[in-house]
Amino acid sequence: MSDDCTDTQQRINDWLNGEAKKHETEPTSRVLADILSDSCSLKHVREQFAYPKNGKFPHVDLSLANPDEECIYMCGNSLGLMPKATRALMDEQLTKWAEHGVHGHLSEPIPWAHGDECALDGVAKLVGGKSEEVALMNGLTVNVHVLLTAFYKPTDKRHKILLESKAFPSDHYAIESQIRLHGRSVEESMICFEPREGEETYRTEDILDYIDKNGDEIAIIFFSGVQYYTGQLFDIPTITKKGHEKGCLVGWDLAHAFGNVPLELHHWDVDFAAWCSYKYFNTCAGGLAGAFVHERFKYDKRDRMLGWWSHRMKTRFHMDNQLDLDDGAAGYRISNPPVFLVVPVLGMLEVFKSVTMEQLRSKSFYLTGYLEYLLKYYCGEDSPHRKSKIWCRSITPKNFCERGCQLSLKFNVSIDVIYKELTRRGVAVDKRYPYIIRATPVHLYNNFTDIHRFVMALQESMREAEKSL
Ligand SMILES: *Cc1c(COP(=O)(O)O)cnc(C)c1O
Repeated sequence: MSDDCTDTQQRINDWLNGEAKKHETEPTSRVLADILSDSCSLKHVREQFAYPKNGKFPHVDLSLANPDEECIYMCGNSLGLMPKATRALMDEQLTKWAEHGVHGHLSEPIPWAHGDECALDGVAKLVGGKSEEVALMNGLTVNVHVLLTAFYKPTDKRHKILLESKAFPSDHYAIESQIRLHGRSVEESMICFEPREGEETYRTEDILDYIDKNGDEIAIIFFSGVQYYTGQLFDIPTITKKGHEKGCLVGWDLAHAFGNVPLELHHWDVDFAAWCSYKYFNTCAGGLAGAFVHERFKYDKRDRMLGWWSHRMKTRFHMDNQLDLDDGAAGYRISNPPVFLVVPVLGMLEVFKSVTMEQLRSKSFYLTGYLEYLLKYYCGEDSPHRKSKIWCRSITPKNFCERGCQLSLKFNVSIDVIYKELTRRGVAVDKRYPYIIRATPVHLYNNFTDIHRFVMALQESMREAEKSL
């Protein structure tokens, strides 16, 4: 039901008005926010995270924010909070290292030599892949390179890579460099697909149309699953299908999609994909990234970057330098898995024992819808309740099926003072100068109260900022 694409705003309106009536309050009241937080069937999930308090949160002005109160963390799109389970698992491995030394490679729990494999099933389930289609390794951009090195085989007829125009810089540079490494020119081979004039997000029909008309020259289509800047969730299955019709390979960067929205990579027939794990999967900065390679490439021995971990486990330690390439995604691994990056993945999988991605997605419908509702009410351009000359609007798609947790807010003035004022009030959001603030209620640990507090702090910050105009 929550993935029904029609009338997201109307449904949120109806739901909030209904709840407000039931509890004899206003849809925009703090009272209702607290009731919704308290009655949420997933509120136990928040308890599994370390949620920072104002007292220790950097840059907070304690004359404006109570040190014992939780901060307003709306920045999980950038770096997620710590699952409490991770600390204990980390300690366990430190102890094992202290006591077992080299034997830790094979001793339980989490034999280091197989650490990544311990997390494989759990992660594969979240991306909708079979375990042999998934590898946990490296950082995201490294995996983009590893995959493009294997899959980008340009010919004179088919040499282009298609990506969205405001792709994340790392993806942009990775693709530029891959093209150059093949001795080709970026001008000729890299196509940055633009939205329509005056629009911020991309229309699926335009992307399909472009692929239809130009697909014969495109080697690889490589979009992000959820666009980092606008929060737009692309129609992965439809774009993938169209790419395949034109003979293109289709890969996805799932940095902002993994842990955020349900994924069905196998079923969607995606050729390959990569993601990081520190955004919605809460493994901390530089956490272990992932890669997906569709089953149809399981036994193909295409050239790629190799290392000893590409070699099948059974004979890996014969060390005879006769490569016996592992099947599927495992054969794209290069180095032995970093145990201290594996552990946070396992810590996060502990959280997923008590909640499913589908449950989270359906909570997300209400959380992000509620944020949009309050913003429109208190800070929107046309709102009679706005108390400042400053206003903002969301540039994220309005339909739930075209977005994840995040809303990208565009302000009518530069955000520097607003951002500073938010920070002083214990709000963590993400800034993109000059006009954009990204605010993300994460289904795992944010609640309706956080959102209400955020919008109140934003109102105050806008009023403060107005004084400096
Ligand atoms: C966050 C993000 C990255 C970051 O890359 P790292 O290799 O993890 O530093 C790359 N691409 C996209 C689309 C991202 O959102």
